[in-house]
Amino acid sequence: MTAARPEIDDAAAVEKDRDSLTDFSPVNAPTQRQSRSGRQPRIANRNADDIPVAQRATPQLRPANPWLLRLAIVSGGAVLVAVALTLVFPQPLRRWLTPPPVAGLDARPGLDGRLLGHFPYGQAAASDLVELGDGQRLQRDAARELSAMLVAARADGVELVVLSAFRSIDQQKALFFDVKSERNQTARERARVSAPPGYSEHSTGYAVDLGDASAAGTNLSPSFDTTAAFQWLQANAHRYHFTLSFPRNNPQGVSYEPWHWRFEGTAEALKLFEPAARFANR
Ligand SMILES: [Zn+2]
Repeated sequence: MTAARPEIDDAAAVEKDRDSLTDFSPVNAPTQRQSRSGRQPRIANRNADDIPVAQRATPQLRPANPWLLRLAIVSGGAVLVAVALTLVFPQPLRRWLTPPPVAGLDARPGLDGRLLGHFPYGQAAASDLVELGDGQRLQRDAARELSAMLVAARADGVELVVLSAFRSIDQQKALFFDVKSERNQTARERARVSAPPGYSEHSTGYAVDLGDASAAGTNLSPSFDTTAAFQWLQANAHRYHFTLSFPRNNPQGVSYEPWHWRFEGTAEALKLFEPAARFANR
């Protein structure tokens, strides 16, 4: 009977496996064990080859550790939420993954594209710029209207002076960083009164800084708004499609600049300043 021994051993092993399978069910386990012990001879006589291999492997079907299951559900959920947020709100992620746009300035643009309050602007093509005299240049359409405005002001006894017009992004960079170190300002303090390079209306060739020839002490100062030139501009600049970019308490958060006017008299200029105009009127 030596050949029968392995069969009995196999059957016993299967029985053992079944017992271990039901171990996790404390209510049923003792009853089943008792009833099976009554059928012991029948199982012992069965040929172990009749038991499918898959059935022998059933211990692998034990329920997963509930903590592992919870961990898998939570991490899977977190991944799904992250993917959904990335698809719905790609901008914040892109914003934080890209380096700050201005070297030497540790600031990133907001969701509306503004950097420390200033909207981004490209640089005018040299072919679109014309000379104003004194080395100043402006976009052709803006230059034509500005000339007409200066003539009209003079006729009213007001001498407007062009202090600054087109500035390349490189010139703006020098202005921003040189004056910043000269005045011992932080970049954020500097941005209150001057746009970072790539964020200046002057680079578009549509913006001018104007002064009053009879009150040079008010040049580029908030006190320019006490001059006859400013009073005249407030009353007449719109006829030449010039508008004050940074009025007092402007929503952009840029400091009050009564001397800085931008031209919005062409479709191209209007489109360029549309985000700023929409922001100011919201
Ligand atoms: Zn300006």
